[in-house]
Amino acid sequence: ATTPQKSRQKPKQPPSPPLQRQNTKATPPSPPSIIRDKQGYLQFHKVGFLGEGGFARVYEAEDFRGTRVACKVVSRSSLTTKKTKTKLYAEIRIHKSLSHPNIVAFQECFEGDENVYMILELCTSGSLMDLLRRRKRLTEPEARFFLVQIIGACHYMHTYQVIHRDLKLGNIFLDAKMNVKVGDFGLAALIENPGERKKTICGTPNYIAPEVLFDTANGHSFEVDTWSIGVILYTLIIGRPPFQTKEVKAIYKRIRDNEYEFPSERPISAAAQDLIQLILTPNPQERPALLDVVHDSFFARNTFPSYIPTSAHDFAPDFR
Ligand code: ADP
Repeated sequence: ATTPQKSRQKPKQPPSPPLQRQNTKATPPSPPSIIRDKQGYLQFHKVGFLGEGGFARVYEAEDFRGTRVACKVVSRSSLTTKKTKTKLYAEIRIHKSLSHPNIVAFQECFEGDENVYMILELCTSGSLMDLLRRRKRLTEPEARFFLVQIIGACHYMHTYQVIHRDLKLGNIFLDAKMNVKVGDFGLAALIENPGERKKTICGTPNYIAPEVLFDTANGHSFEVDTWSIGVILYTLIIGRPPFQTKEVKAIYKRIRDNEYEFPSERPISAAAQDLIQLILTPNPQERPALLDVVHDSFFARNTFPSYIPTSAHDFAPDFR
């Protein structure tokens, strides 16, 4: 996943490009080939490298039974400030509390001498970002399939007062059966009091809801995830994000002005257009609830695949 970004800015004017996550790559963790907890109860064999994010490296590993897992490693030396520690512990606490078939399962967490380790469910089919890179665009039946699972995961999180705040293709992983597993709770927030609003500007430029950027006085809440789901739907079937331009400031201006189009050379159904427009409603109070989104006629149209074949990695499945 590309680095989510974070900054504090005054409202109205499009904010400057946000800062990178702190401590990025300062000390990339290099875990030993046998990863153990300090007490020696747990042991994992590192078998491969899966990827890296803002402050973590993720390895494929095997437990004592030979079961494959993903092992997210953060170097303890990168946790120099109180803030970075608090953030990591918040990520762990939130992710650990969630259990849903479409959320990456959080199995274990422990410290070694050098690193903090998070043992996660392994997603062998990469992310929706990888899939889109290969395929360029997905079909609407595929988008329906993935979106219903993303919405299910998101609705579940919201029930437990968790806002993900960084839903994007790179954080939506796929397991071996092409089922969605939402991951990376690095920017997630827990709403502890009813009606509480979050004020920190965070997210990834293309996916940030307008109220995060331009209504910092009121703050934002659960509706920011719904917005990102609208951006995800558009991106999956059109092949690029709706507000995409070269400069981050220009992206923010487009988000502020709700300026995006449906390119005629990449036609999509009227139902898909209507749903995207409905979700990308600038006012969070007027934006549809997740349950309204899944009940939209877009999902009742034509084919709704019962599964996505793994051949979808390389070419569009024929659902007839
Ligand atoms: P960060 O929180 O630092 O951004 P991520 O959680 O996004 O880190 O992980 C970084 C990369 O590691 C991902 O882009 C992906 O390639 C890989 N990865 C993360 N979690 C898993 C997983 N559960 N299964 C397989 N690969 C994963």
